[in-house]
Amino acid sequence: MNRYTPDPASTPATEIGPVDWNKIRSDFPILERQVHSKPLIYFDNANTTQKPVQVIAAVDEFYRRYNANVSRAVHILGTEATNAYENARMALARFLNVRADELVLCSGTTFAINLIAYSWALPRLRTGDTILVSRMEHHANIVPWQLIAQRTGATIRVAEILPDGSLDQDALYAAMTEDVKLLALTHVSNVLGTVNPVRAICKEARRRGIITVIDGSQAIPHRSVDIAAIDCDFYAMTGHKLYGPTGTGILWARREHWQAMPPFIGGGEMIKEVSFDGTVFNDPPYKFEAGTPNIAGFVGLHAAVDYLQPIGMDNITTRETELLEHATEELNKISGLRIFGTAPGKASVIAFLLEDAHAHDLAILLDLEGVAIRSGQHCAHPLLQFFGVGTTCRASLAFYNTHEEIERFIAAIHKVRRLLG
Ligand code: PLP
Repeated sequence: MNRYTPDPASTPATEIGPVDWNKIRSDFPILERQVHSKPLIYFDNANTTQKPVQVIAAVDEFYRRYNANVSRAVHILGTEATNAYENARMALARFLNVRADELVLCSGTTFAINLIAYSWALPRLRTGDTILVSRMEHHANIVPWQLIAQRTGATIRVAEILPDGSLDQDALYAAMTEDVKLLALTHVSNVLGTVNPVRAICKEARRRGIITVIDGSQAIPHRSVDIAAIDCDFYAMTGHKLYGPTGTGILWARREHWQAMPPFIGGGEMIKEVSFDGTVFNDPPYKFEAGTPNIAGFVGLHAAVDYLQPIGMDNITTRETELLEHATEELNKISGLRIFGTAPGKASVIAFLLEDAHAHDLAILLDLEGVAIRSGQHCAHPLLQFFGVGTTCRASLAFYNTHEEIERFIAAIHKVRRLLG
């Protein structure tokens, strides 16, 4: 039996003020585009989100006015670029409620999870140890653990889900046996939209001495996330799903972890002193940031966070829930359409299949109607295997989407269905 408990660390808490969503939408120039002579309806937000002018302008200004490398040059451009990069770190730390010096800036969740795998897990795990993952993980939170398991002799155990796509928490807790050293779990599923009660789960894991790795890629764009309140060991996120540039992301861990971990990648910036006799590493977080980072990207991600904060993450959750409910209600009226993932309190992601239509055919024909959705396996083969399907379509909604777009999306599905006979 599932014991779904809303997670206080990701549940709207503050008063909802009025937001002019039409005005907000006009901040996203790409949404003005026509594709195949139809107005673009962008429903592929779980893949990557579109960028507001504020983000585009911040990146543009960086390259026009103060492009330089960070932490290396004493000239004014070098100082400005370094300040901008460090200001981004501080803004992200405030946004996620963590300490800036515990926040490693990196290229995204995939890099972040590999960093944990190679720097925390590889030196520690051995034969007899178990890595616990859930059925609903993205490949980025499965494959690095398989590679580590192969190298250490550890085994992977899978925590199963229930037919509605929620995590089977009883099974998860039963799977947390003494040999489990690490739990790798997504905060929100990129296919089902399931929101896992990570705070309660991390508490339980901590009680049993299990290290927790939370993949926040699909949580942070949709709700207010307080990493300190979740009290996990590692929290990873990718910036391009948070209205920021590609090639940006964060990995948070407590200082004790950073200090106990060897560097993942070696090179410039992560050192204090280098000689041929040996190297003294820099302090965290810099010890984990070798080489020239994506400076412009983090300037853009800072602008994204500054853009989202006045809108309010709680307002965003409310808006997206309204859109999700509308789209789900309309999709449920279409006979032969099956939705995967109906867990209570889910995020605005809808995986579905239409009887007698291949997911790719449906996505290609919807594209001709101007509707961008994703089709395929969504980097989650094991999850699709659970449902006994090879592919699905996925419509994922963001706050800038509209009820009118949902109506047009539904009309487009009806049209495509007629075409498919
Ligand atoms: N984890 C989840 C849940 C995701 O949805 C994604 C991207 O789709 C990733 C990890 C990987 O993110 P990235 O490719 O930005 O590293």
